[in-house]
Order: sequence, then structure tokens, then C-alpha cells
Amino acid sequence: MEVLLARENGFCFGVKKAVELTEAAAETGRPVFNLGQVVHNPKISERLAARGVTVIKDPADAPEGIVVIRAHGVPPEVRARIEERGLECIDATCSLVLRAQRFTKQLADEGYKVILLGTPDHPEVIGLVAYAGDDYIVVETEEQWKKLPKMKRAGVVSQSTQPPWLFTALVAHVATISQEMKVYNTVCPVTIKRQVAATELAEQVRTIIVVGGKNSANTRELVNLARMQDREAYHIESADELQRSWHAHRSEGTDRGAREGGPGPGVVHGASRGRDRRAAERREVHAVQPARRRAHRHRRGSAGHDT
Ligand code: SF4
Repeated sequence: MEVLLARENGFCFGVKKAVELTEAAAETGRPVFNLGQVVHNPKISERLAARGVTVIKDPADAPEGIVVIRAHGVPPEVRARIEERGLECIDATCSLVLRAQRFTKQLADEGYKVILLGTPDHPEVIGLVAYAGDDYIVVETEEQWKKLPKMKRAGVVSQSTQPPWLFTALVAHVATISQEMKVYNTVCPVTIKRQVAATELAEQVRTIIVVGGKNSANTRELVNLARMQDREAYHIESADELQRSWHAHRSEGTDRGAREGGPGPGVVHGASRGRDRRAAERREVHAVQPARRRAHRHRRGSAGHDT
């Protein structure tokens, strides 16, 4: 059995930094609290818990010590509440999320109605809308943005993990309903690379195994992509969940691709159908365009993706 791996794996730099800052804080010996899971990955959460790090939902849950803001970021008032309580605050908000927050605020300050592509209850989106002033709307599907009224000034931004082609489709639509439009492309380049790599991998195999936290939007999007390409896709958090039956019904030489959902650990397994692995790694980005079109058609007909 040959394992075929996606060429983009492992933590993104934003999550890596948040985990490292949490671990460094734990080494001080003071009580350390993560405001929400620092990464949607149970294995890492267990590792941090073993070092004495506690996950809290609200700054009020931390009696003393250090509170680490995760890569998703928070509304400014949440940070203010941490400091008001006399707690030390370590802000691990990813630089790309900070950039999106800055652009969102800029659009609001300049009088644009902010149109944010994202999942409304995702922590990153909750942080972003705090910068969007009073006139904003969060949309996640084409069905939702088709209901937007005509407007004078529209400013478009995105949650970092949204699919890039969805963002492009939203921008194209807003151009038809606004007199003036300003766009900041805040889709994360790391996310784009991972989605492209997952799509390329799906072109090489019939089954995809995505490894990552079950509640990670990033990881679930990778599973969605594989299914949109009519691939059998399994989402696991660790190698313990691998099942023989996923391969048993297949004939000799059938394929199995493996993809690590970002962010997540590097446990991946799979079997190729004997294609040249290096050839798979050489595939050009443009090879995924048909899959993107299928993905867009799928989303148009869907109720939107989960968080
Ligand atoms: S996915 Fe992108 S925006 Fe989000 S934490 Fe990672 S690098 Fe930052």
C-alpha cells in the first residue's frame, strides 16, 4: 500500500505561533488560560491540558494568571475585559486576522456597508464584525447574498478560511448591486494552498482521509472539497479511527489518499492506485479549476457549510 500525501500539511504559522505562545506561558508556572481552544484539534488540546493550560469561554472564568487570545482573534472589548481584571494578556491573534480586522474597520470608517463572507457564529467572524460598525452583513451562501438590496457603497471582506472561489463569486455579485465597491481579499493564502493541494490529491485517488479536529471549519472544508469531487472522504482526528472496511471492498491496487486538515497533527495514511507520486506532486494549480466550478455549483445548491 502506498501512501499519497497532500503536499501541504501541518500547522499553519498562525496556529503554530498560538500554540508556542501558550506553551511558553505554561512554562512560567503561572495559571494559564486559553480563551477558547487554541486549535480545533483534540490531541493538541490534551497536550496543553497536560501542561496545566485551562480552556475558558469568558475572561471572567480566569481568577488570576495569563489569558492567551487564540489565532482567531476577539472583539476589542473582550481584550479590554481581560486587562480590566488585572490578568496578563498574551495576544496570539494571527497577523492575517489582524490585517482583516484593520481592513474591516477601515471600510466601516470610510462609510462602506461591510459585507463579510463567513460563518456568523465562527469566533473569527465574531471578532471581525466588532470592527464593522453598525452597517454590516455576514453572508455565507449565494442564496443569502442574492437577497442583498442595491446599495451605494459596499465594502467586501472575508473570513480567512472561506473558499477563494466563493469570495470571487460574492465580489462579482456585489459589483452588480452597488454603485461603488471596495474589496479587501482577506482569504488566507495558507488556506488557499491547502484547499488547492487537497483538490489536487483528490484528482489522484478515489478515497481521501482528512485528519484534523471534528469542529475545525478548515478541516471540514477539505472534506467537503473531496466529496464535491465525488471522492469517498473520511474525517478522522487520529490514526485510531482508521477502519479496514474503508479499503476492504476495493480491489487490488485501488487508491487511498490522505490529507492532513489544517491545522492538525501529521498523522496521515493512504494507498495510491499506483500512479507516479512525483507526477502527482508536479500537478499544476490550474488542474483544479473544474473541481472549483463543481464546488461552486454544489454550494449554490447547499444550505451553507457548518462551522
Ligand atoms: S489559517 Fe491563515 S489566517 Fe488562520 S491562523 Fe492560520 S495562517 Fe492565520
